[in-house]
Amino acid sequence: MSFKKLDLDEVLLKALDTQGYTTPTPIQTQAIPVVLSGKDLLGVAQTGTGKTAAFGLPILQLLSEKNASHRGIKALILTPTRELAIQIDESLAAYGKHTKLSHAVIFGGVSQNSQTQQLKRGVDILVATPGRLLDLMNQGFINLKQLQIFVLDEADRMLDMGFIHDVKKVIKSIPEKRQTLFFSATMPEEIQELAKMMLKNPVKIEV
Ligand code: AMP
Repeated sequence: MSFKKLDLDEVLLKALDTQGYTTPTPIQTQAIPVVLSGKDLLGVAQTGTGKTAAFGLPILQLLSEKNASHRGIKALILTPTRELAIQIDESLAAYGKHTKLSHAVIFGGVSQNSQTQQLKRGVDILVATPGRLLDLMNQGFINLKQLQIFVLDEADRMLDMGFIHDVKKVIKSIPEKRQTLFFSATMPEEIQELAKMMLKNPVKIEV
């Protein structure tokens, strides 16, 4: 299996080549076609499996195809920690370096000024931790009306860290008509319920 066989655009293949990725990991092989087809996804996978590219690559492709010009948040990736948020944003920068899409990352514990400045310049893909996202939404810096794709990363850790209430608040304020990608390393009952509430006819992938 190669990335080319997964129908990824030349601009993404070029970036993957630079990264030194030759073969997709199992979650990438399974998830990329599902995401490209527009379906919801339930991915039971841990960090280290190549999960970030499994959602990042098809998101970059879908958004490059659809809305080349006008800015606005079209994909939101919610992740529990600042470290994960930064990692995901860096991966998007690497995979998307030959696309025209802009991305930004927001997280708590630091001044919001540089984050709000980036938001004002226009962002296509936003990576966020829940608390800072809600904070900046409440202050009016973030408009999610154009959101098309929502990713919930590490759902079980969100629960462990006490963020489930915040996650539910975010879900209530995004468009119902959207594609949702839900990732969790484990599927305890509360997470199964959350997945059921958020996903429509998802394809389930377990690695
Ligand atoms: P992740 O699970 O997304 O955190 O990825 C784990 C690590 O694997 C990261 O350092 C990625 O850069 C790397 N990685 C992801 N996909 C591939 C691939 N297809 N080939 C080689 N390395 C990869």
